[in-house]
Amino acid sequence: MDLVLLGAPGSGKGTQADYLQRTLGLTHIASGDLFRDHFQRKTELGLRASEYMARGALVPDPITIAMLRERVSQPDTLKGVLLDGFPRTMEQAIALNEMMATLGRQIDAVLYVEVPDEELVERLSGRLVCRECQVPFHRIANPFDTCPHGRCTGEHLYQRADDAPETVRARLVTFHRQTAPVIDYYGLINLLFTVPGHGSVDDVRRATLDVIRRLDIDKPSG
Ligand SMILES: [Zn+2]
Repeated sequence: MDLVLLGAPGSGKGTQADYLQRTLGLTHIASGDLFRDHFQRKTELGLRASEYMARGALVPDPITIAMLRERVSQPDTLKGVLLDGFPRTMEQAIALNEMMATLGRQIDAVLYVEVPDEELVERLSGRLVCRECQVPFHRIANPFDTCPHGRCTGEHLYQRADDAPETVRARLVTFHRQTAPVIDYYGLINLLFTVPGHGSVDDVRRATLDVIRRLDIDKPSG
């Protein structure tokens, strides 16, 4: 079963990815990891991608698709893949369909971890990092108690610029603008499953499991 995982920053998508990977035996393919792997191996595709990134430009879709194709062709993906961070646009979604078809595969379902924006703002803007030991804390979920390194007493906690509420809101606006057409597209071709991503980790896990059960019913051969 080949899946796509969508979710805003702070949606807990990573936790869901781990869970789906373990439960369904899927291979988790994050687009960021793909780039890093190609850079490290100094592949032709990696070198081409790095030329764009060095200029601050987006890596063209054909390069990303070629990397994905190579990765999905490997034998450890037989039980299925879980794509994370791709596709981000409708053009990429269509290119992905075409690429998968050349491998005799298809995207079976798209899971969108949906969390209300205000909850995402609360989650992300509550993050604090210790400047001394780089340990992450959270105002609500994981408040500072003792420094695990025993070096400080909470006086070096600060908020990264990325986590300031107004920055978080701007990131969410960008996410929705980019992702809404992708979500609409997968909805139109009946592949979209929405996982409610609010509540506790256990609530979300249960919601994910419900979706997996529905997938099993819909795709008995998967
Ligand atoms: Zn510290």
